[in-house]
Amino acid sequence: MKVLVTGGAGYIGTHTCVTLLGQGYEVVIVDNLSNSKPAAVERVRELSGKDVAFYQEDVGDEQALRDIFQKEKPQAVIHFAGYKAVGESVEQPLKYYENNVGITVALLKVMGQCGVKNIVFSSSATVYGDVENPPLREDAKLPHHANCPYGTTKLINEQMITDCAHADPAFNAVLLRYFNPVGAHESGRIGEDPAGTPNNLAPYIVQTVVGKRDKLHVFGNDYPTPDGTCIRDYIHVVDLAEGHAAALKLFEKGGCGLRVYNLGTGRGHSVMEVLKAFCEAAGQEIPYVIDGRRDGDLPESYADVSKAKRELGWEAKKTLQDMCVDSLRWQRQNPDGYGD
Ligand code: NAD
Ligand code: UDP
Repeated sequence: MKVLVTGGAGYIGTHTCVTLLGQGYEVVIVDNLSNSKPAAVERVRELSGKDVAFYQEDVGDEQALRDIFQKEKPQAVIHFAGYKAVGESVEQPLKYYENNVGITVALLKVMGQCGVKNIVFSSSATVYGDVENPPLREDAKLPHHANCPYGTTKLINEQMITDCAHADPAFNAVLLRYFNPVGAHESGRIGEDPAGTPNNLAPYIVQTVVGKRDKLHVFGNDYPTPDGTCIRDYIHVVDLAEGHAAALKLFEKGGCGLRVYNLGTGRGHSVMEVLKAFCEAAGQEIPYVIDGRRDGDLPESYADVSKAKRELGWEAKKTLQDMCVDSLRWQRQNPDGYGD
């Protein structure tokens, strides 16, 4: 099966491409490199030993996208492309609605024009908002808007894709709600390469380990959790990548219609537990300070993963320790990420 991967040069996209190529899928990457580097695509080619087609195009450019679809004739799409910075989405909401919603409209239109009926979409645990208690199940009633514009774009995308599936019984869509992706490929050749100061916990910690940051700022230790810090469901990015391969299998089996799955481990870890795991993996103390709460953070979020296990035959295998060791290896081997 040939799969067109939007955002395939990014963090989750590169890992997914390597996994798919390793399983015999053909991969075509479309990425405008707004948050990634050409070297990432080169590393995917290096790790897979395969010649991967890469188009540096904006997914919102319908004509360019149509040309790619007509030339490459993919049977399925995995749609990773989009912006993902929560804080920036609060400051510049239209940038997020334009890029994260607008390009999905363009993509779905071109898929329709070219007769491509299979899509996997990168959604997020953020769609659950704060109305449900964990473990979060796929059938939870979703809020009308999330706690930031980024999250709301995920809700809108899910709704648009759901509407397309309702409109066309032959249209197949798998919405994957990721929990907190962490880690890197065990080769240390691909990993997360955040621009500027990292917003997320794990990249901030690894940059502290290598001395790029002075200390970790722990955002609040007065939450109603055992150690007072927030709890999240951290999932190794390679497990996440394998979840996408499992989703593609649904298309190969025939019409699956609309499906929704959580991709997490089903286990929560607090900020202090993550920090401790990184200290063990690094073999050193990691300086930190307790700061105030960050706006919008929920005390606790973790997935119910039974549906993905039952229907996809997929479950996360890697441990928090694996995530820490692999993240550190990537950071140490690539102190400046993919470079300039
Ligand atoms: P990333 O920024 O590393 O990758 C996204 C890629 O999309 C980048 O390479 C970027 O250049 C590209 N892109 C953005 N806009 C584009 C456009 N208009 N046209 C073409 N390419 C474009 O992010 P990631 O962490 O790999 O996330 C991938 C997807 O997963 C995103 O949709 C994100 O919202 C979602 N997600 C990520 C997380 C996370 O914590 N990383 C959690 C939940 C969901
Ligand atoms: N966090 C923190 N310091 C940081 C970054 C994050 O204490 O520099 C905390 C944050 O408050 C949250 C957890 O780590 O409780 C995970 O945050 P992240 O931004 O990685 O993921 P998300 O908020 O999207 O779950």
